[in-house]
Amino acid sequence: MPCVHESNKKDWMKTQNGIIKLHPYCNKCGSVGNISSDRGKKIGYFLIALSRLRKILKDRGYKVSEAQIRLIAKELSSIEDFDDTWWITFSRQKEIFISVVRKYIRVSTDLLESVLNSEWR
Ligand SMILES: [Zn+2]
Repeated sequence: MPCVHESNKKDWMKTQNGIIKLHPYCNKCGSVGNISSDRGKKIGYFLIALSRLRKILKDRGYKVSEAQIRLIAKELSSIEDFDDTWWITFSRQKEIFISVVRKYIRVSTDLLESVLNSEWR
């Protein structure tokens, strides 16, 4: 069972850019919360990105099958902590998403980046 993080403790820790800031950490598992603006997103965000990718490729004449989409979705949801937004960053999720998708669909990293980064809901 994944940890349902709870925190009422903070500690001074270094952020990615080297500045020392107070970070919350989980009382139960001890993992440190992500306080950067690089916030992780729930898996739904990536599944929507996937269907958007499928549509873009279809418009370009490349058909992605339902089975491919299912395999990607299954693999993403099987990765423990993938959408544990307590600590994961969006940058890390993007790396994982891109490597998983590229196992099943031959697309460029650039296209995947643009599908993930564009502002749409
Ligand atoms: Zn925890």
